[in-house]
Amino acid sequence: MRYFFSDRQLSHQPQQYMVHGRIVSPFENRDRVDAIADALEASGLARAEPADTGLDPILAVHADHFLAFLRDAWRDFQSLPNRGPEVLPNVHAYAGATPDYAPRGPARPTGIIGRAGWYMGDLSAVIMAGTYDAAVAAAHAAVAAADAVTGGEDAAFALCRPPGHHAYVDRCSGFCFLNNAAIAAQRLRGRFGRVAILDFDTHHGDGTQAIFYRRDDVFFGSVHTDPSAYYPHFCGYADERGAGAGEGWTLNVPLAFGSDDEAFVDANRRIVEAALARGAEALVISAGWDAHRLDPLSKLAVSDDGFASIGALYGSLGLPTVIVQEGGYSLDAIRTAALAFTAAFRNARGA
Ligand SMILES: [Zn+2]
Repeated sequence: MRYFFSDRQLSHQPQQYMVHGRIVSPFENRDRVDAIADALEASGLARAEPADTGLDPILAVHADHFLAFLRDAWRDFQSLPNRGPEVLPNVHAYAGATPDYAPRGPARPTGIIGRAGWYMGDLSAVIMAGTYDAAVAAAHAAVAAADAVTGGEDAAFALCRPPGHHAYVDRCSGFCFLNNAAIAAQRLRGRFGRVAILDFDTHHGDGTQAIFYRRDDVFFGSVHTDPSAYYPHFCGYADERGAGAGEGWTLNVPLAFGSDDEAFVDANRRIVEAALARGAEALVISAGWDAHRLDPLSKLAVSDDGFASIGALYGSLGLPTVIVQEGGYSLDAIRTAALAFTAAFRNARGA
């Protein structure tokens, strides 16, 4: 089993993140890569360089005008007087402001501040000089892992950083710019009729959910912290089940603050059973390690044993699987949780 990563993904090095009314150093930083790579290599995975597969696999998920914004935002921001080091919005678009708002088209404002407010969902996905290249390279890691699996490999790991599951068709947020898991799932659809994305990052995968919410070919299941007082706040509730043709193709299992290994593993079993009931032929796993009790953002009490249990659960399914890196912000917990999960996953496969 291989993991895909390119050094180009390190060119995103943000300095700012707004939390509780203060600008602080981002939890999502390049140090995470070493911790995750160490864990993957300790569990026997070999590093591979992703191919440059161009923009087509990304545009199969994201709007072209959004991609253009990510590409141009930092350059255009340089025209502002007394600017900060990174693009951050100081206004936000509101869906009720125009009666014919949905579906969203290109931003009406042409100035960088208005465009930033249109395409940037919060104050955690800051854009700097290297952000676009890093995000595209992370997406290419996801495409490469999907291509490895469609080419006959049993499973592959995409070490995506920056992460992706909070990125929408046309919006970056939550440290995420391009939705790597969605891009991998869409790529897998070229070979497999039905794909499931199962997401156990401690934050609800709101971008992924939105991308597939009306579709009946990609199931989305998510285990996460109850969003009523936790990011992403506005979705991830149990009554969101998909819409239209996609009705029943989304399953959210929010967990109460303080939930332990047993609740975490049971919830993962629920989304697995639902994915199998929908006839999933291949899996994308959105893997975050931030449910770990040592994670600075965690409100749960999951231990390495919990991650080992779900690694065995996912591995035992025997389905072609792309594992996509999402969150996880304690460098210590990343190392132990990613190792526990990946080793158990491989062991269950007899690999
Ligand atoms: Zn997360």
